[in-house]
Amino acid sequence: MANDSICRFMFENLGIRGEIVRLEDSYQTALDRHPYPPALAQLLGQAMAAITLLGTTIKYAGKLILQVQGSGPVNLLIVEYDSERHIRGLINWQKDVFLGAEIADLFGTGHMAITVNPQDKANRYQGIVELIEPSLAGCLEHYFKQSEQLATCLWLVADANRVAGFMLQQMPGIDADGDDWRRIKLLAETLSDDELLNLDEEELLHRLFHEDDIRLFESETICFHCTCTRERIEQMLLNLGKEEINSIVAEQGSIEVDCEYCNKHYSFDSVDAAQIFTDGNPGFHSETRH
Ligand SMILES: [Zn+2]
Repeated sequence: MANDSICRFMFENLGIRGEIVRLEDSYQTALDRHPYPPALAQLLGQAMAAITLLGTTIKYAGKLILQVQGSGPVNLLIVEYDSERHIRGLINWQKDVFLGAEIADLFGTGHMAITVNPQDKANRYQGIVELIEPSLAGCLEHYFKQSEQLATCLWLVADANRVAGFMLQQMPGIDADGDDWRRIKLLAETLSDDELLNLDEEELLHRLFHEDDIRLFESETICFHCTCTRERIEQMLLNLGKEEINSIVAEQGSIEVDCEYCNKHYSFDSVDAAQIFTDGNPGFHSETRH
C-alpha cells in the first residue's frame, strides 16, 4: 500500500461506485509548514482526504478547490487538488479549538464553497452551501444533495499521523431510494475509524461487502506540491499597485513574501520591485491568492 494513494471501485451491476483514500506524507508535509493544534491538524487532514475523493473522477486538466470560511475560531480552510494528483492546503485560525469540535465550534456561521477550475477557465463553476451539518463529511454530503443530486456518503478520519477517507456514490440515473443503495450504505456504516485508517483496500472492501461483486481499479499516487512561483508572487505584488509597493520598499528596504501553503520565501529588493512595474508585464488579474 502506497503511503498516499486513492483507489476507485465499483459494484458490478448496482450502479454504485466508491473510493478509498489514504494520506500520510502529504498530510505530514502540510503539517510541517504550520504548527497546527491537533484539532485543526485533523480538520485539515480530513479536508485533504475529502478533496481527493471529490476530485479524482474529474476528467479535465485543472484544479478543484474546497474552501470553508467562517466567523469562528477558524477563519479559513482551503485545500486544492489538481489533475496531476497534487494537493496543498492550509488553515488560518485565531484561537485553538478542542479535539472533536463540531463545524459550528470551528467556523461559527459560515459557508463552504467548492470551485471547479479548469485550466481553460471556460467552465469554471462554484457551488456554495451553508454549514448546517456538524461534521465536514456531513457538510459535503449536504453539498452533493444541493448541487449534484447524486446521493453521496463520505467518511473522513484523521489522527496525528494519517488521514483516510471513504466515499460511496450513486451513479447517474439510479433510483435514490433503491434497496441496493440502502443495503450498501448500511454495511458501510459498520466501518470503524480504526479499520478505515488501517485496513488495506482489499481487506476493507472484503470486510464490508464480501457478498458483492466489486471491481477494484488500480490505485493512484497523490503528493503534496505547491504551485507557487516567483512570477505568481510578482503578479500579486503588481495587483497591490505601484504606490503601495514603493512605500513598503521605502520603509523596509525590500519586500519579503512567504507562500502560505509551502512556506517558500520570496525576496524582492528595490530593483526587483521596480522591475515588476516595467513595461511588458501582463495586465491586472483579479486573483490575489498565489
Ligand atoms: Zn508555495
